[in-house]
Amino acid sequence: MSELMDLYQEVILDHTRRPRNFGSLDSATHRAEGDNPLCGDKVSVALELDGDVVRDIRFEGKGCAISTASASMMTELLKGRKVALLATAFRQFQDLVTGRAIEPPEDLGKLIAFAGVAAFPIRVKCATLPWHTVKAALENRQQPVTTE
Ligand code: ZN
Repeated sequence: MSELMDLYQEVILDHTRRPRNFGSLDSATHRAEGDNPLCGDKVSVALELDGDVVRDIRFEGKGCAISTASASMMTELLKGRKVALLATAFRQFQDLVTGRAIEPPEDLGKLIAFAGVAAFPIRVKCATLPWHTVKAALENRQQPVTTE
């Protein structure tokens, strides 16, 4: 089990050091800002939708290792996929990081690396901030999202 945890940590560190889909997106059709004052994480997410498909997605901001890796891996998961994936993947991710997952989270792919967050409740908001933010973007909410 500890080898598995090491492997998970490697995946998260890799995405913290080299975030994927990081930067601005001029062609964005949806945007939102998110803020986790508890930790100081700030993230903005921009998506370009083509019908019900996420043609492109990027994020910017400054956050801790967990929030950055979560945003990086979330954008990888959603890019090129149907918008509807967000709702099911977000629910599975929330269950995973709060330790409530009863079934294997089959839509999450390597985001399962975040299972260890369940042992650190204060980090749950870091991990879920990018997800709340992309949800707000898709719902065209004008107010910035805050975890508080
Ligand atoms: Zn954080």
